[in-house]
Order: sequence, then C-alpha cells, then structure tokens
Amino acid sequence: MVDFSKAASSVISDFTPYITDIPDFPIDGVTFKDIQPLLADPKVFRQAIFEMFCKFETDLDYWVGIDSRGFIFASGLSHYSNKGLKLIRKKDKLPPPIESKTYDLEYGTDTIQIQPGKGKVIIVDDVYATGGTMDAAEQLCVDAGYDVMGKVVLIDLAFLHGPTDVKSVIKYEA
Ligand code: AMP
Repeated sequence: MVDFSKAASSVISDFTPYITDIPDFPIDGVTFKDIQPLLADPKVFRQAIFEMFCKFETDLDYWVGIDSRGFIFASGLSHYSNKGLKLIRKKDKLPPPIESKTYDLEYGTDTIQIQPGKGKVIIVDDVYATGGTMDAAEQLCVDAGYDVMGKVVLIDLAFLHGPTDVKSVIKYEA
C-alpha cells in the first residue's frame, strides 16, 4: 500500500527542474513543456499527483482527463482518491452516445467529445496555455450533464492568459 502522505513528506518544493523546455516545438515560436522527466521519477510524479489532489476539498464523482496527457494525471488522481475516471477524447475516438464541442484554435478549429452522464467532476490536463482547451472542456462537461466542481493542471503558463480559476502545481509567470 502506497502511503501518499509519507511520499509527500520528502517534499519537492520546485518541480521546474523536472520540466524540460523544448524551443520551437511543435512549431516555431512555441516552447514545449516536456513533462517526461517528471513522469520518469516516481517520487516526483507521485508528489505532483498528491499536490493536484490537495487543491480540492470538494467531494466529487469523477476526474475528467483531457486527451491525451490529461489522462496521465487524471488516472493518478482517480487511483489515489478512489474516484472514477472519465475521458474527454479528440473527435471520433469515443463510441456513442457522445456530446461534442468545437472550439477555435489559432488556425482552424478542434472538436472534443465525452460520453454524457451525471455527477460532480474535476477536469484535469497537463498544461493550461491560452485556456481554449480547458474552457471548451468545461463547456463540454456542462453540456453533457456533469457538474464541474473545479479544474486542475500540472503546469500553468500564466503569462499567456488573464486571471483564471484553474488550479496548478507549477506556474510560469511572465
Ligand atoms: P490551450 O488550449 O492553449 O490552453 O492549450 C492547452 C493544451 O495544449 C493542453 O492540452 C496541452 O497539452 C497543450 N499545450 C499547449 N501549450 C503547450 C506547451 N507549451 N507545452 C506542452 N503542451 C502544451
């Protein structure tokens, strides 16, 4: 049995050494935040999950992971908290019934989908950048019948957006 409270006592106060900046990936001008060093270190990964969990005191039924790296953290949160897991997937990956939401990207649009249902949810992703994905995910969950109790990410690129109620473990200010 993993004791998360003990895991968290070997406290990592700064997660940024476990995030690698990859300049100009996947396109010029974007600095990609590679989370793989964090995932590769079990203590650090576990503490990151624990810190995401600790952002909320509210009761919930499901963690909702956003395709695809949101699944990693939503799965960990689900396992740790003994609550369910729901998936927001990119278009045409989920079997019916589905609810869809199309939202604007810098160039073009994207569509995300979830199976309708009921219950209290917290939405999970790896990175909050402009906020478009998380905003669309929240609207999708509401349209699909869920009560959104909160939103959490590992990394908030705070310099890219205005004030938000999305909680985060690592924040990059301007
Ligand atoms: P946004 O809709 O602009 O908030 O973008 C958030 C989504 O895009 C998340 O699902 C991330 O996985 C991905 N993303 C955006 N910017 C980055 C970045 N700099 N590094 C890694 N992933 C990113």
